[in-house]
Amino acid sequence: MADASKGTIVVVSAHAADFVWRAGGAIALYHDMGYKVRVLCLTFGERGESARLWKQGKTLEEIKAIRREEAEKAADILGAEVRFFDAGDYPLEVTAELRDGLVQEFRQHRPEFILTHSLVDPYNADHPRTTQLVLESRILAQAHGYPSAYDVIGAPAVFLFEPHQSEQCNFQVQVLLDITPVFERKRRAMECMAAQEHLWAYYTDLAKRRGVQAGRNAGGTVVYAEAYQRVYPYVGGVFV
Ligand SMILES: [Zn+2]
Repeated sequence: MADASKGTIVVVSAHAADFVWRAGGAIALYHDMGYKVRVLCLTFGERGESARLWKQGKTLEEIKAIRREEAEKAADILGAEVRFFDAGDYPLEVTAELRDGLVQEFRQHRPEFILTHSLVDPYNADHPRTTQLVLESRILAQAHGYPSAYDVIGAPAVFLFEPHQSEQCNFQVQVLLDITPVFERKRRAMECMAAQEHLWAYYTDLAKRRGVQAGRNAGGTVVYAEAYQRVYPYVGGVFV
């Protein structure tokens, strides 16, 4: 159960499965710490990330329904609630309505921090577009003059999750999150994504590699980890 004193984490996923591969561990960890975790899927990944279903001859509506069900199952395993915007992918078009929807989400749910995609991705235009949308919506949610029934938000940190090809995306590993205690759930959540079975092993191997690096950087043993990049600097009275 979410502990109201702990607050909310918001994860913005361009497509229905992105949050599972890239932030499934963080979601499960924060759920277990008592936070409410809210996943916002802007699309179902129906056109761009469902090749197997298209090859099986499914219709667009069938594919959307299948991807929704998979994402709901995965979110349930991880302990998140999920909202689908059904904004249409490949290409994801950022409309005023979609942008306002995110601003109102941030205002209403007041995230402690936000997780989303990398700033750059030459293989996927929807991902960095989502990141830009998240950053802009966060700025608007801070603006006193922006029309809303809810109060302005403070300055939630934004962490970018690891893209598929990190080097080409200029992704910098700045946080290694130890997800060892929840990795078994992340794996089960990944296995809900039957349309992308080829990624289960890939993201298990990546978590192991990041785990080894986490152990090396922390001087201890970490088995599985997820990498994140900060957008804004850490602020505090001590070095960490
Ligand atoms: Zn995606």
